Amino acid sequence: MLTVSSAVKKLVAKAQPLVKERRRAGLESVPVPEALGRVLARDITSTINVPPAANSAMDGYAFYAEDAEANDFLLQVSQRIPAGTAPQPLVQGTAARIFTGGEIPPGADTVAMQENCKESNGSVKVDQNTQSGANVRPQGQDIQAGQIIIKAGTQLRAQEMGLLSSIGVAAVEVFKPFKVAIFSTGDELVEPGLPLQSGQIYNSNRATLIGLIKSLGMVPVDLGVVPDREAATEHVLKKAAMRGDVIISAGGVSVGEEDYVKATVDKLGAVDFWKVAIKPGKPLTFGRIENVPFIGLPGNPASVFTTFMILARPFLQAAQGIVDTQPKVLKAVAQFEKAGESREVYLRGRLVEEGVEIYPNQSSGVLSSVCWGEVFVRQKSGESIQVGDLVDVLPYA
Ligand code: AMP
Ligand code: MG
Repeated sequence: MLTVSSAVKKLVAKAQPLVKERRRAGLESVPVPEALGRVLARDITSTINVPPAANSAMDGYAFYAEDAEANDFLLQVSQRIPAGTAPQPLVQGTAARIFTGGEIPPGADTVAMQENCKESNGSVKVDQNTQSGANVRPQGQDIQAGQIIIKAGTQLRAQEMGLLSSIGVAAVEVFKPFKVAIFSTGDELVEPGLPLQSGQIYNSNRATLIGLIKSLGMVPVDLGVVPDREAATEHVLKKAAMRGDVIISAGGVSVGEEDYVKATVDKLGAVDFWKVAIKPGKPLTFGRIENVPFIGLPGNPASVFTTFMILARPFLQAAQGIVDTQPKVLKAVAQFEKAGESREVYLRGRLVEEGVEIYPNQSSGVLSSVCWGEVFVRQKSGESIQVGDLVDVLPYA
């Protein structure tokens, strides 16, 4: 059986040709305020300094430190510089009234805070304790002209949207969002809103998958529920291959007589690997229908969330052009004990002041564990966990 880390490596490698294809198929230009979650297709280099000129970090008085000392810190106020105005060169031996964000006039090198200065009759006694150079934000202190500020393959967050705007970029070239065709399998499934008959359960995986895909900035193509029959499975897989850039299913990948998904992928396309040494979620399947990659997640709701996050997500991110698909791994002190298992276990946990706790019921059918949690605790195969051990913690987000 594949280990989790070798499965992730394989998946990320399989995603690489898709990025190239995507680049060839054409990129999109998107206004920066609408670019949340989109993935940059090119490096962004700044053509300007930020700030473009030195400016004041305070409301106060700007002057040349040596002049101030020579004049016993009493200076005539020779100009007023609110933010947004162009300053005049500072007359030697004088000070400028200046406001936060106001451009430092040529000839000044220091700003004294207004709270520590006293202005009267057109002159100001500036604070003697002001260090030379104080309260001045130098030109280019944030970004310098010619600097690459964001690399291709970065998924844009609010802060990158702000940074792009700060260098005057109005629109960026990004990859087109991935379309992910999804379906759930199982004769027992009923859609929420309809009454439950005996033997039935509500379909939760559909909503979970739609949410997960949207949260990655991708577009779900929902193909609904498929009964446990070969013909229906064949039909939906063909449709999914036409409509999606990638196919993700939930359920029907075990070895039971009612599990048709893996066998049908094998028949219509190819299965590259089946089964990963992960708990929950062992029967995960990866393959393709025609040239469309296929990921078959197991059906249990907590397995769907876990295998999506740990295995499908890095694949989707890499395929979408994201360069850094490594999950964040932190360390925390275990507040629980847990016997070792033969597979690598991903426990749904929550950070607390003293470390990390886990939900008491870690069954793959207990979706509440996923909602209660905010991190996975990674338990390496064959290793038990004692209270006080330092364990690997992988935040969901
Ligand atoms: P399977 O992988 O198809 O054998 O399903 C494993 C378990 O997950 C079974 O108990 C199913 O009833 C349950 N299950 C499968 N698909 C879903 C779904 N879409 N929503 C909720 N539970 C599901
Ligand atoms: Mg099933």
